[in-house]
Amino acid sequence: AAKRKLSGALQYDAAFDSSSAQTLSLLTELRHAVEHHELRLYLQPKVPLHGQPGLAAEALVRWQHPQRGLVPPMQFIPFAEQTGFVRQLTLWMFEEVARLLADPRTQGLPLRVSVNLSTRDLLDPELSHRLAEILVRHGVAASAFCLEITESAIMDDPQRAEAMLNRLSEQGFKLSIDDFGTGYSSLAYLKRLPVDELKIDKSFVMGMETGEDDAMIVRSTIDLAHNLGLTVVAEGVETAAIQDRLRALACDEAQGYHIARPLPVDDFLAWQARQV
Ligand code: C2E
Ligand code: CA
Ligand code: CA
Ligand code: CA
Repeated sequence: AAKRKLSGALQYDAAFDSSSAQTLSLLTELRHAVEHHELRLYLQPKVPLHGQPGLAAEALVRWQHPQRGLVPPMQFIPFAEQTGFVRQLTLWMFEEVARLLADPRTQGLPLRVSVNLSTRDLLDPELSHRLAEILVRHGVAASAFCLEITESAIMDDPQRAEAMLNRLSEQGFKLSIDDFGTGYSSLAYLKRLPVDELKIDKSFVMGMETGEDDAMIVRSTIDLAHNLGLTVVAEGVETAAIQDRLRALACDEAQGYHIARPLPVDDFLAWQARQV
């Protein structure tokens, strides 16, 4: 019965009733997942396209559910955002990454890890204290992290987002605007934010080979980022042809299945050892 309830709740739809038994059941399951170590940290490499050194990865969560197997984030992140549980998930993820950065196996590697923040995190006045506490406890520097915030999360409440981003930037975190091109932010606004990186949404990158509109959007985003002094990353790079084209357009970094899928930590470390 528990399994049936959960699979129903996982068929998340935006019109859910926050007091329903189904919602409470999934929340209980998610809390249980954190407490019983069912969440997994996966890392997807992010590589430079012009040979400058550096080792970077994006941290992506997976749920190793005892009955359902490996549950992808799109089946529980939207729910976690809606209920506010995502803040606990963010802290769990941040802690996992901090532990990895303090792990002897990553010592001496110039590793920087990107962690995704949600709209809820941006509005949480406790966030920066909590992140600082985790950094101190593991003895790792804020500069080893890049925090990814989607363009739409910023545009949700631009003034509060700006205040939060200023605070995180002063703390030493690198900041990236994720899913760039999908959120209608104004250029004037973008210029004021203390961000270091733009990440071109994978829909445009994947469309580059077939759609001239997408190729044009990618090209202008790269130029825009460079004119603003930002690093630009393309996500969703699935073919060598697209990677070559991005390199020719002077895109700085690439992430995608052509380079590597998101990998469990051990596989990521093995992958990076093969690159040198
Ligand atoms: P995102 O932040 O835009 O992450 C990139 C997504 O693109 C990942 O999906 C990644 O596996 C996928 N991807 C990477 N390369 C390729 C490619 O070449 N082709 C295609 N088709 N896809 C590619 P994933 O891991 O399923 O995550 C989906 C979304 O869930 C993420 O999108 C992010 O919004 C959210 N998410 C994942 N982990 C976390 C987390 O720890 N915290 C929060 N707040 N959100 C997370
Ligand atoms: Ca991301
Ligand atoms: Ca993205
Ligand atoms: Ca996305």
